[in-house]
Amino acid sequence: MINKAMTEELELYLHIPFCLKKCSYCDFLSFQGNEAEREAYTEALLKEISAYKEFALEYEVTSVFLGGGTPSILNASQMERIMESLRQTFSIRKLGEITIEANPGTLNRDKLRAYRSMGINRLSMGLQSFKNEDLKCLGRIHTCEVFAENYEQARNAGFTNINIDLMSGIPYQTLQGWEENLRQAVKLAPEHISAYSLIIEEGTPFYRQKLTLPPEEEERAMYELTHNLLREHGYLQYEISNYAKPGYACRHNVGYWKRKNYLGLGLGAASLIREVRFSNTSDWTWYLEHSSDPWKIHSQTEALDEKKQMEEFMFLGLRLTEGIGRQDFIHAFHKNIEDVYKQPIDKYLSLGLLEAQNGRIFLTREGISLSNMVMSDFLL
Ligand code: SF4
Repeated sequence: MINKAMTEELELYLHIPFCLKKCSYCDFLSFQGNEAEREAYTEALLKEISAYKEFALEYEVTSVFLGGGTPSILNASQMERIMESLRQTFSIRKLGEITIEANPGTLNRDKLRAYRSMGINRLSMGLQSFKNEDLKCLGRIHTCEVFAENYEQARNAGFTNINIDLMSGIPYQTLQGWEENLRQAVKLAPEHISAYSLIIEEGTPFYRQKLTLPPEEEERAMYELTHNLLREHGYLQYEISNYAKPGYACRHNVGYWKRKNYLGLGLGAASLIREVRFSNTSDWTWYLEHSSDPWKIHSQTEALDEKKQMEEFMFLGLRLTEGIGRQDFIHAFHKNIEDVYKQPIDKYLSLGLLEAQNGRIFLTREGISLSNMVMSDFLL
């Protein structure tokens, strides 16, 4: 019997690196994989999970995030074996948040029902746009009609916590087109909306193409419109790109921004455990051969010194609209935040990019749009 008073909180991330087809902008660790590879990967993941049995005794899992890639590519039996193995190895908190990322076109009624019966209680759907021409341009596998069908199936299967991912800054997108997207999203009333802007990453097909992207002022206008329109419909912005109805912020991601312990399982998955960051190997063959011995698949291990911890505390914490708590800083580092960061705090307070209120320091609306510049000043 686990003594809960003795355990620390832990978040779990599981990486499923398969996608039916690579999107034109994607630089995530994902590839197509055939049925045999998906099965071999599932088996390797099960071995990795079980290898944490002893480690798991010291933790209580507060959230699980099945991310990718496209986790919903796995068949229901593969997902069931993964969830079963997680429950056998880890103590998962009752009513803990368990999210699966899913792409329209890889879901159906039976799969969604199966997810619910496995205890998966949050669905994050990668829609990106309600316009088929955008989806085609992005190289997505689905249409908005398929999304609409899957969304309805998800509600019917009993999902009461759904996120929709939307993307702005798509080639040829206009402010009006983006507004139409937002309006269609709020009509469906998902509990959560992630609104990201397209980033052109090196090594992707988009990087090699000459794209006609919305101008910077238009992108900024899209960002402001997102905040205002979603607020009018009851969505609160709690992070730079994330909006939720009250009580529906993604607990897993908030934990990440607050630097809680998290363990990444699967190919290339990253972890932060007791101020040590490490990642699993991204080498497919090595992972499959050695997943039962986690220490063999860990790479890039870095024990964070105090300076690094403070930097992360600041630039991750400032992503949240609630910002940084002065007491939380004292609790973490046994000193006042001004002892370390007086200069950038004073500078950005006077420029109106930061605000201080009720013991918290946070970015203003203008500060959010210049967040990269502000955050870089908190590197020591
Ligand atoms: S579905 Fe997601 S992970 Fe897969 S290729 Fe597209 S963007 Fe990348």
